[in-house]
Amino acid sequence: MPPEVQAAAGRPMINHRGPEFMAIMQEVMEGLRWAYQTQNEVLMLTASGTGGLEAAICNLISPGDRVLAGVIGVFGDRFASIAETYGAQVTRITSPHGQPLDLSAIGATLDSPQPYRAILVTYNETSTGVLNDLATISQMVRNLPEERRPLLLVDAISALGAANLPTDAWECDVVVSGSQKAWAVPPGMAFVSVSPRAWEAMEQARSPRFYFDLRRARAVAPRGQTPWTPAVSIALAMQASLRLLRAEGLEAVFARHQRVAQFTRDGLRRLGLQLLVADERYASPAVTAVRAPDGVDPDRLRARLRDEYQIDLAGGQGPLKGRIFRIAHLGFVTEEDIQPVLDALTECL
Ligand SMILES: *Cc1c(COP(=O)(O)O)cnc(C)c1O
Repeated sequence: MPPEVQAAAGRPMINHRGPEFMAIMQEVMEGLRWAYQTQNEVLMLTASGTGGLEAAICNLISPGDRVLAGVIGVFGDRFASIAETYGAQVTRITSPHGQPLDLSAIGATLDSPQPYRAILVTYNETSTGVLNDLATISQMVRNLPEERRPLLLVDAISALGAANLPTDAWECDVVVSGSQKAWAVPPGMAFVSVSPRAWEAMEQARSPRFYFDLRRARAVAPRGQTPWTPAVSIALAMQASLRLLRAEGLEAVFARHQRVAQFTRDGLRRLGLQLLVADERYASPAVTAVRAPDGVDPDRLRARLRDEYQIDLAGGQGPLKGRIFRIAHLGFVTEEDIQPVLDALTECL
């Protein structure tokens, strides 16, 4: 987190129904539209990212709906599970760990005679460090005739602010992000963009919803309000973060993430380490997953880095637990943060 964002998160509390806060919320929502590259409403929910995913499902998916889920890791699996929890008939398309969604498999499945209500895509799969080719997937969805075209629901929780995602140009119906990833803000809020098509579909959707009913959020958003008490400090931090991002410019923000990610991967390869994502085209700008070398327990390595170097790396999740470790380079991370990680890895290994 940049110091400006930390300072904003620590400001004295203000009335969440007062004029000062309304102006802040309006500025943040406008900033989110800028970062999402959209004219759609971007609503602010007090929830972690998963709450944003649940909002996408419970507002748009009805029991029995056919849903196509691209699953290349833990987070894609979670999105699919939420849809199943709401009674959807979910078809999963999976790829081996470290690989992106298979575009021809998606194309073939979308072409099946029975249409899908929605397709779920994780743009950046944080558990493996893969950035899916969302541009091409969105093009495939757009190429379908209107009556067979599914809603495109995107988990961009670790992607927005790190990777280019032109929501309107790619006609993404719902895009979810979370405050604690590339926004460089503490955890506590999820942001959800909703297309006109999705608003229409919402009127027909039959799943129960109350706290996450996006129509309630939409009704009060123009006044800078939320239906329930929002995480005020997170909104203040978002205002500070978006001001920094706007000053830097979107292109520059993405280029910086690319540069730091490349610096990380180059450094790791120089140490002789194997990256989980072999194909550079799909390497994430937000996080890099590294295979543990033979005979090295990645969780013991992480414990040493934490205790002896004050460096906190992430472990593997799900089936990758004990097989990889992950280095984050999203938000306010620079080469000056990554170099000590590479140095400590050199010493430990
Ligand atoms: C972090 C993350 C989530 C989950 O977010 P929470 O804030 O932990 O609920 C979902 N999807 C992706 C891709 C993520 O990186």
